[in-house]
Amino acid sequence: NKQVIFRDYVNGFPKESDFIITSATIRLKLPQDSNGLLLKTLYLSCDPFMRMLMKNQPSPFSYSPGSLVFGYGVAKVLESGHSDFNEGDLVWGMLKWEEYSVLEDPGKLIKIHHTDVPLSYYTGILGMPGITAYFGFHDVCSPKKGEYVFVSAASGAVGQIVGQLAKLMGCYVVGSAGSREKIELLKNTFGFDEVFNYKEEPDLNAALKRCFPDGIDIYFENVGGKTLDAVLLNMRLHGRIAVCGMISQYNLDQTEGVHNLMRLVTQRIRMEGFIANDYFHLNAKFLEEILPYIREGKISYVEDTVHGLENGPAALIGLFSGRNVGKQVVSISKE
Ligand code: NDP
Repeated sequence: NKQVIFRDYVNGFPKESDFIITSATIRLKLPQDSNGLLLKTLYLSCDPFMRMLMKNQPSPFSYSPGSLVFGYGVAKVLESGHSDFNEGDLVWGMLKWEEYSVLEDPGKLIKIHHTDVPLSYYTGILGMPGITAYFGFHDVCSPKKGEYVFVSAASGAVGQIVGQLAKLMGCYVVGSAGSREKIELLKNTFGFDEVFNYKEEPDLNAALKRCFPDGIDIYFENVGGKTLDAVLLNMRLHGRIAVCGMISQYNLDQTEGVHNLMRLVTQRIRMEGFIANDYFHLNAKFLEEILPYIREGKISYVEDTVHGLENGPAALIGLFSGRNVGKQVVSISKE
């Protein structure tokens, strides 16, 4: 049973050597009297929030040095001691980074009922990032047809979905990303109206002014720092900023200051943070909305897949240098 162990707390950018790949022999059997599940891991998800768990700060959710990495993933139930689950069920939720797992408390796992779409999608568009994009956009941004929407980290797991939901809503949508390949994707696959590469156009204020001569109504914030500051200068009256994440800040010991917050006052902007988990209870409604878009080809979805648990750490840390093109998935096993 291959496993990924977290070596020790991380300062600065995480490195592959912060993780240890081990292999342990296990009995593929639930312990006697267990109310849990024996799971076979199929797909693991690399998500930016996992960087937060690597910090040496008191939190019930931090990784402990020497313990298994965990994160979202998709698994198959091999044996069940829990009345809500049966052998053969497919589930997504928080899993340990190992090929086979015993999960003693499976109550928060979500059962997968729709299998006409790739199972890996439950790490992304049909899982936590999809819920983030859907409710972050529709609930937090209060969008209206024709509004001007800006999405940063736009080609990633969350950004690509937000951009397309905004297009479906009839908005004008601009995305930023950090490579030419991603810019192509935004324009040609996801249908963004306008795009810019923040690495090639470091004057973000000028780039935003070019893309939004009349200003921004909605900013879906994934990046933070200088991007947020430049966006604030370009927000329209009564704009909304949905603070989904600030990935540019996750590896800094001291986060950057934001200088233009006074614009919240002068432009009467609502800036609001949110967490995907608060919307998990609406999963059924979410699937009802998003599955037809996928089946009818109204939303395109791009994944970046590495194979094998041993390639997980490199894929995970690659999020912070923009190595991933689309949703970063680690494929562990076919069903
Ligand atoms: P992505 O798939 O977008 O991967 C991360 C991307 O971020 C990279 O590919 C890179 O793209 C970009 N990036 C990395 N470092 C920087 C930097 N210094 N400046 C600008 N861009 C950078 O990740 P997700 O879609 O999963 O997550 C996007 C955001 O959403 C994150 O901030 C994450 O924390 C947040 N999030 C929040 C949730 C919530 O519940 N609130 C839930 C899920 C995600 P590029 O090449 O374009 O730079």
